Amino acid sequence: MRLLRVLMPAASVVLALGLTSGWRAAPSWAEEEKKSPPKGAAVLFDGKNKDLSSWTTLDGKPAAWKVEDDYMEVVPGKSHIRTKETFGPDFLLHVEFWIPLMADKKDQARGNSGVYLQGRYEIQVLDSYMNETYKGGECAAMYLLIPTTKNACKPPEQWQTYDITFHAPRVDEGGKVTKKGHVTVVQNGEKVTDGDFDKVTGGNLDNDIGKPGCIFLQDHGCKIRFRNIWIKPLEK
Ligand code: MG
Repeated sequence: MRLLRVLMPAASVVLALGLTSGWRAAPSWAEEEKKSPPKGAAVLFDGKNKDLSSWTTLDGKPAAWKVEDDYMEVVPGKSHIRTKETFGPDFLLHVEFWIPLMADKKDQARGNSGVYLQGRYEIQVLDSYMNETYKGGECAAMYLLIPTTKNACKPPEQWQTYDITFHAPRVDEGGKVTKKGHVTVVQNGEKVTDGDFDKVTGGNLDNDIGKPGCIFLQDHGCKIRFRNIWIKPLEK
């Protein structure tokens, strides 16, 4: 008993210290672990060596976004960037993004960027955490074509993930769509976008539906960060 009487106050001091010093549980593995590229995937950006060599401006000049640690960041006014390579018809694309807090902005001006699939179909990036906008303009929507069915957005200034499964529309020799495309977007582990489409979104680079196309990231005047981008072709 004497030992207990000695130990109990000591334990409560340790507990109190822990509470007052703001100790927190270690982040879960799910939060910490960045999804590694699977076998057969091409890495488009991993932050190593500040390497943006897979990317250019839309007119082919070297990409001029900032690269810091393991991420790249939009430099407003320095143009959208695109991959040199083209992809399709079907692929998985993993992208991680970080939206700054833009408390003085709202609607489409708040944390806007975009991930364009084949340079034609924008998966919207927007701060949709407590920020209203029109239907189909929200984060993770295929812009104005396929709205999300739920909101899985994290607050700004946290890393978020997109796992996009893309099947391009099929066309005949004349370019007429014979089979609609299909896209699903899993945001932060939750499927939020799932639908068919047979046309391009605004801001597209071309109208060559059915042809391979690049991945392009939008400069919409907001300092969005991206990291850990990889793409894996799917069997036809
Ligand atoms: Mg956008």
